[in-house]
Amino acid sequence: MRNPHAGVPFDTSDEDIAVALEDVSIPTLMLSLVHMTGDPGLIRGRLKPAGLFLNEVQGYMSEEDKAEVRAIALDTIRSYRDQGCPEPEPVSADMLHEMMNWLVCEEVPDEYVPMLMEEMELDGTDVRRVDVSANTSDREAFPVVVIGCGQSGLLAGIRLKEAGIPFTIVEKNAGIGGTWWENSYPGARVDVGNHFYCYSFEPSDTWTEYFAQQPELQAYFEAVMTRHGIGLHVRWETEVLGAAWDDHSGTWSVRTREQDGTETTLVARAVISAVGQLNRPSIPEIPGQDTFTGPAFHSARWDHTVELAGKRVAMIGAGASGFQIAPAIAAEVEQLTVFQRTAQWMFPNPNYHEAVGPGVRWALHHLPFYGRWYRFLIFWPGCDKGLEAARVDPDYPDQQRAVSEMNEFTRQMCTEWITSQIGDAPDLAAKVIPDYPATGKRTLQDNGSWLRTLTRDNVELVRTGIDHIEPDAVVTVDGRRYPADVIVYATGFHANRVLWPMEITGRDGVDLRSLWGERPAAYLGITVPGFPNLFCMYGPGTNLAHGGSLIFHSECQMRYITGCIEELIAGGHRSMEPRQEKYDEWHERSQNELKKLVWSQPSVKHSFFKNAYGEIHILSPWRLVDYWNWTKQPEMDDFVVR
Ligand code: NAP
Repeated sequence: MRNPHAGVPFDTSDEDIAVALEDVSIPTLMLSLVHMTGDPGLIRGRLKPAGLFLNEVQGYMSEEDKAEVRAIALDTIRSYRDQGCPEPEPVSADMLHEMMNWLVCEEVPDEYVPMLMEEMELDGTDVRRVDVSANTSDREAFPVVVIGCGQSGLLAGIRLKEAGIPFTIVEKNAGIGGTWWENSYPGARVDVGNHFYCYSFEPSDTWTEYFAQQPELQAYFEAVMTRHGIGLHVRWETEVLGAAWDDHSGTWSVRTREQDGTETTLVARAVISAVGQLNRPSIPEIPGQDTFTGPAFHSARWDHTVELAGKRVAMIGAGASGFQIAPAIAAEVEQLTVFQRTAQWMFPNPNYHEAVGPGVRWALHHLPFYGRWYRFLIFWPGCDKGLEAARVDPDYPDQQRAVSEMNEFTRQMCTEWITSQIGDAPDLAAKVIPDYPATGKRTLQDNGSWLRTLTRDNVELVRTGIDHIEPDAVVTVDGRRYPADVIVYATGFHANRVLWPMEITGRDGVDLRSLWGERPAAYLGITVPGFPNLFCMYGPGTNLAHGGSLIFHSECQMRYITGCIEELIAGGHRSMEPRQEKYDEWHERSQNELKKLVWSQPSVKHSFFKNAYGEIHILSPWRLVDYWNWTKQPEMDDFVVR
């Protein structure tokens, strides 16, 4: 069988190939040519990228050099086509490492190479799929309940199905997607490049934008679900109320409620929570908000029946969601007033709203391994570099302004980007340039649309605190009244209330919520002592503020979880839970590490990363490569197995 990443054979005309080549990433194309010819000569000569920056895909090559590559490519691709597009011979490991270094213009350290090779799957093998050894009847007797059918729940279903383990996914919504089902607000789009933000084993060559909008993302997950036959295993519009462990039978009883109120109990040998961290909307209590007479809704509960055209809209909160909503609605509303408590850092990403041209889509579909190298090209700049950049230098003098020299550099770069767009507007500059270190909160990606929106005549950014809400207005603490017909709360989620509001009761009747309080933790973000056979995906301590993608993390977690379940079945065990000392040590180590990073700094006053005590428990302070290594397979000595 042909390697699925070797490209679909084609008979495209010379003219159409030449047109497609106008569009493509030239450095990525060059590596595809190396596969086609088996000759590394092309990347050992003069033509090479000069550097790499986040989402920069052309490698800063001159137009002349790119034209030269296109001419070589046209000849090579024509000849490859005329030979019938044969599957390229495998390339040696050393050569692949050389190709990596060449593409990203730096030495990719040895320790990263196995992870990247796995992520790219150049040999067409999905090694994150766990090989199963236990016999079929044992696995049939091990039903699993997965809570949630977003990206991680779908992945869980795919892996369990591959392993022959019976499972039911319980999903509160009527369709797949989780975040990408619920967040249908105008302008909702992902901010991780889509050719990386998709499962490693389910690449898509049809993305229409580099950072797809919500409908396209939801459709991707729907298509993957259909391809893997997961839909039949899902109970839609059914919410999990709670789950209780019975030590005697070694089972979880999972209580569910359907839309019509019918309650059912599912019995499972293991439970996988795939509920995410950002799905329970948080709306701050503001005096008088109940008296507001117009429509008022949260960004993740967008009311599409409300006509915004010609209305005065007050948007309270402007983090990642508000930042996308304002540019999407400003042109149609009569007046948009944005109430923002804290200014946001943003950095330039010119591709943020760009369409993927037909030439790139042709290359992704047909050229050998083009899509794989493109994935790596987008992944690498966000692979652990952001973590080093987030590290606090305790000797750096002005910690309110920056936490290190590198952080000061980032501040200057982002400030220049902001000021370059607003020109000589000191009032606006004072409102939009943050007063805390760069990257201290989740940094937003920008193509200029946010600041352009703020300079519109019908848009006002208000940084003064809100005092109260009246039936037709929002009033700030300085007494100013902002008339409004509609209120949009873009105020984020209960991110720190992990697994809330489910009632999870473990061994000896221990309630998970009481155990955690404000400090949720799980060993590797996955397992908790006293809660046997409970596995979290995107659990405490696994949110990524420094790069990577949650899909990458989910793939690490699900491989580990499948490994655990496999151990349970093959060993005939009733249960496993992490040793208390492992959990404690992990939590302490994670906390120590988090304290050394910019997100924890007191100068960052408001941030959903922090709990009520200003501590951080939901983020990962770890390098992706370490997390990947730690989650390759469970260490059974870390567990109490019964
Ligand atoms: P968020 O980043 O937590 O932003 C919430 C906004 O509401 C902030 O402006 C916050 O102000 C404000 N707010 C919250 N409570 C407030 C209060 N009591 N008084 C005044 N203002 C208040 O939430 P989000 O924008 O929904 O984004 C959440 C996360 O979802 C993101 O960080 C990201 O992980 C994900 N997301 C991603 C994308 C994307 O991929 N592009 C898009 C949307 C969301 P402060 O800043 O002062 O707290």
